[in-house]
Amino acid sequence: MLELLRQAGKRPLSHAELKALIEGYSPTVAAEAAALADEARRAVYGDAVFIRGLIEISNICKNDCYYCGIRCGNAACRRYRLTDEEILSCCEQGYTLGFRTFVLQGGEDPAFSDERLCLLLTAIKRAHPDAAVTLSLGERSRESYEKLKAAGADRYLLRHETADREHYGRLHPAAMSYDERFRCLRDLRECGFQVGAGFMVGSPYQTTDTLAEDLQFIQDFRPEMCGIGPFIPHRDTPFRDFPSGSVDLTCYLLSLIRLLHPTVLLPATTALGTAATDGRERGIRAGANVVMPNLSPEVAKTNYQLYNNKLFTGAESAAEVDALRARMAAIGYTVVTDRGDHKNFA
Ligand code: SAM
Repeated sequence: MLELLRQAGKRPLSHAELKALIEGYSPTVAAEAAALADEARRAVYGDAVFIRGLIEISNICKNDCYYCGIRCGNAACRRYRLTDEEILSCCEQGYTLGFRTFVLQGGEDPAFSDERLCLLLTAIKRAHPDAAVTLSLGERSRESYEKLKAAGADRYLLRHETADREHYGRLHPAAMSYDERFRCLRDLRECGFQVGAGFMVGSPYQTTDTLAEDLQFIQDFRPEMCGIGPFIPHRDTPFRDFPSGSVDLTCYLLSLIRLLHPTVLLPATTALGTAATDGRERGIRAGANVVMPNLSPEVAKTNYQLYNNKLFTGAESAAEVDALRARMAAIGYTVVTDRGDHKNFA
């Protein structure tokens, strides 16, 4: 297993080899993978941990993904949409605290038209020309992505969710399409974005084969960012009775992704921090190098509930950001005030 771990990133691994790595998980192998991943990350980004200020702009969504708490079919979800003024004030507050990337995330809310988003992007960039803006607003047309890029958006997160067509069909209603998801990722790349893909670990019907396909996709497509976190059920979704994904497996997969694609920007996600109190630290030790504290106002804290008991790692004050710095310093990493671009875009 150690020899195979050493091959990762040196040459493309086959589906069978990736599957063998996943199935070869043991605490000892995971510790070896984490040590190699740490070396690989330090060679590219040193001990830096990049921070992103997450702003959850709307929980209104036209999609009905079976796993997601803000799916349109969830009548129990109290809907909200931030105003442009509220979003700008979150950026203002974040900038003062040292954030140089703002991530605007939300459901697929038709009110966020191209026109509105372009005006908002222009206003954010005018106020903070040295900050990067990441969007995570789902599937849009190529024309829309082109306009958003031209208006100043730097990065776009769109998890592929699963690289297996049949598995994709079991996580989403028939109205959503695997081909469309991957069309978006290709268009985003061609429009010049730093692109983020990713998937949930332990999503219903996931197998080692589908996970091997996910790793193969990451190895081939080489997204600039990759968000992975454990699946956590939400009480008002069709997947309410499925178990949560494993924290240990998520950390092991973080290490494998770092080894397969050493330059990737890899967050220790909110879901990982929700599933274990030391989840973010464990993610960073396994090879992650990004954390995304929440800059959203109170209304989002209560209502942007993608899964049960979602953690709110706020950054409302300098004290909270200092506490995060201290937590990262305690495990040997340095939170930096930097846009934290992917190496090829820096
Ligand atoms: N609407 C945008 C999109 O589709 O990319 C962004 C928002 S979406 C809620 C963000 C991510 O949350 C999804 O890509 C999904 O992987 C994750 N997510 C949703 N429900 C989840 C759950 N129950 N457990 C863990 N992650 C979940």
